Formats: sequence, structure tokens, C-alpha cells
Amino acid sequence: MISKKSATLAVRAGINSDKHHGAVIPAIHLSSTYALKGFNEKRQFDYSRTGNPTRATFGQAIADLEQGAVGIVTSTGMSAVHLICQLLSTKDTIVIPHDCYGGSYRLFTHLAKRGQFKVIVVDQNNAQALADALSNKPKLVLLESPSNPLLRLVDIEKVTKQCHNVGALVAVDNTFLSPLLQQPLLLGADIVFHSTTKYINGHSDVVGGVLVTKDKTLGEELAWWANCIGITGSPFDSYLALRGLKTLPVRMKQHQINANQVAEYLKNHHAIEAVYFPGFTDHPGHEIAKRQQSDFGAMMSFEIKGGLEAVKVLFDKLELFTLAQSLGGVESLISHPSTMTHAGMEIEAQIAAGISQSLVRISIGIEDIEDIISDLEQALSASQI
Ligand SMILES: *Cc1c(COP(=O)(O)O)cnc(C)c1O
Repeated sequence: MISKKSATLAVRAGINSDKHHGAVIPAIHLSSTYALKGFNEKRQFDYSRTGNPTRATFGQAIADLEQGAVGIVTSTGMSAVHLICQLLSTKDTIVIPHDCYGGSYRLFTHLAKRGQFKVIVVDQNNAQALADALSNKPKLVLLESPSNPLLRLVDIEKVTKQCHNVGALVAVDNTFLSPLLQQPLLLGADIVFHSTTKYINGHSDVVGGVLVTKDKTLGEELAWWANCIGITGSPFDSYLALRGLKTLPVRMKQHQINANQVAEYLKNHHAIEAVYFPGFTDHPGHEIAKRQQSDFGAMMSFEIKGGLEAVKVLFDKLELFTLAQSLGGVESLISHPSTMTHAGMEIEAQIAAGISQSLVRISIGIEDIEDIISDLEQALSASQI
């Protein structure tokens, strides 16, 4: 499932890097500023917005896992998304998926409205729509696979080739899988980014982001912008995310075991109309997922029978699942995309993206699987009365 190399990189990140004391775990450096050795004699770090040892260790760890050249740690996942906007000037076009993360959709469409660049929103599974969008010679194409909340797959390698043919750079949001389950740079992409708020930190106590470029020059340009705008991540958040990263390999294994069982359970439940999970052999993206991912992830969504009324009862009756945005933490979470994660998307755009009122998204945690299923069982039964 997880290659030994990635698991080892995650666990060993930053270990034994302290030359002064031999601390096994790297220290957290909170200092905002660094003394020069003398007049015009700089050290590696001078000011923590620009560079910080704790943040640098975490950024390098993710760059190693994604096999990229430069890792840039940002204050939030959204600031990582915003950072790529710095590559676009007013005449440039960016192509985004119609079912991308609600916050990304909101950012790109609103900046485009203000004339900062042009945006084309497409269904990236529609080959003709994608070809039409690419004929506009975009500067940048954003991919998200699997997508949120419907877990649609995009063939990253194939689409990246098409984008490169028209001279576009490709950036992939890899938040749903983490670098342990998918490495977009190895599939040809130029930029990969994460909301570390999710699986990478994994304990729902940090909001953060990270972006990795394949090319050193592009990475340096974006690092320059991250410092210029002032969106680099805090040392404390970097420390926590680095700590979370060390258990990512084992967390992912357990997330996966639990998710496969929940998906099977939901599929056979009379209260459920449809389950969206790439691990199913009849999921339209199953073959692509098998090819480009090392497992199917622990996110899924489903349509419940009985519409919004049934959704409300389900949420009310669940005891173990927490009704909350976010995902990728050790605890199981449930959410209603239309009114929560995707509320930043106009209702027409939601409908176009296939987000209905009876759609429910779940992030499967690592609690005991019997407890997870019992909780779903009692709440689903109540929802159908
Ligand atoms: C959460 C999320 C983001 C935004 O990250 P924040 O850390 O909340 O700013 C971007 N993309 C995806 C897929 C996400 O789930």
C-alpha cells in the first residue's frame, strides 16, 4: 500500500538535524529575527517571514515526499491557492474544475470578477469542454483529483500532457490523498499543493498549507511572492504539522481499512441512493484511481433517501460522527456540502457540479470500525421513519 520509502521519509523528517545538542526531534524556533554575524554578513535566516528553521524543515519534508525541488509552507491551504494566482497577470487565463474545493472556486471567480485574470470553469471529465478551454491558451490549469465532494477522478498524466501541449502549467490540489497516496509531480504536474489542515497534520488543531514545485526556478519565484505578500506559515504550526506528518503513514493505513468497510456498508443500505467512492469497481474513475493512486483514500459522499429532511434527522441522531467542515483528522466528520463546504458556490453552480441537497460527505476517522458502523446504522434507520 504505502511504499517503504515514503513512510520512512515521513517518519524521519527532521530527525537528527540538531548539530548543537543532538536533539532527536528538531527544536521549534519561534524567534522572529536572526542576528547577522557582522556588517553585511548574513546567516541562512534573517527574518522569520522570509525564512524560519522549523518551517524550512517541514517544507523540505513535504518537498521530499512529493519529490519536488522547492517546498513553501503557507499560513493556510487557501494562501497556497492564492500564491499560485501570483503567476497570473490580467491578460492570463486559468482553467479550474467546476467541482473544485468551494473556497478555491470562490477565490478564483471573485478575483476574475475584479479583472485580475480570466477564469474558465470546466467539467474536466468532459473531453470536449476541456479541449475548448485549452484552446484559449491558459497560463495555468488547476486539477483536483479526487474532487470534492463527489470524488470524481481526473487522469492527471493525460490531462497534464494536453495542458503542456498548449504551454499551460498544471497545479494539482492533493489535499484529499496526501503525498502518501498520490504524487502528482511524478505524473507530470508542475505544482502540487495541500491544505495541511487535513491529512498531513491530521489532528484538527492546525490550519495550514504547503506548495511544492517540480522546478527550482518556479519554486524560488513563488517563495519570493510568499515572503512578499507575507503568507508564510508560523513556526508553531510548522512544528505541529511536522509532528503530525510522522504518523501519517499509519493513520492513512487505518483510515483506509475503515473507509473500505464503511463504503461497503453504505452501498448495501436501503436508506442510501448512491455512494461515491473511487474504491468501487463500478466507480467511473476506478481504473484511473488504481493507476495514479496507491490507495483510494478515506473520503466518500452519498445521497440519502428522503432529501433534506432525512439529512437533518441523520445529523441529529449521529453520536460519534461530528457535524463539522474539514476532513482528514483522526476523528470521523460528517458534513452537508451544499450549506457548508460549498456554500461559497452559487446554487446554480452547485447544481451544475452535481451537488444536491441530499448529498452528505464523510471523512472516515480511525475510531473502532464497529463503533463507526453502529453509529451510522442507528442514525440511518431513524432518518427513514
Ligand atoms: C480545506 C481545503 C482547502 C483549503 O485549505 P484551508 O487550510 O482551509 O485554507 C483547499 N483544498 C481542499 C481540497 C481542501 O479540502
